[in-house]
Amino acid sequence: MNGLPEAVEVARGALRLRWEDQSTTEWPATRLRAECRCGDCRSLRLAGRAPTGDGAELTGAEPVGRYALQLLFRDGHDRGIYPWDWLRNG
Ligand SMILES: [Zn+2]
Repeated sequence: MNGLPEAVEVARGALRLRWEDQSTTEWPATRLRAECRCGDCRSLRLAGRAPTGDGAELTGAEPVGRYALQLLFRDGHDRGIYPWDWLRNG
């Protein structure tokens, strides 16, 4: 068990992950955008101006080392790094 998914599928509206035990997790793009963990979005959230994620679409995903996935959104936002642990557990 290394914590990495066996498959990562990026659809416009959702990220689908399949784990070693064959369980799957599906994340709506809107929720991922709304919960973006980058410094900018954290600051906005603290200021009460969190991104809503409305209309968010995914355009890509890149592994970051072995611990996380970087997601690219259609609005050009690409700074969110989502650790696998977080993606697995929500
Ligand atoms: Zn962000």
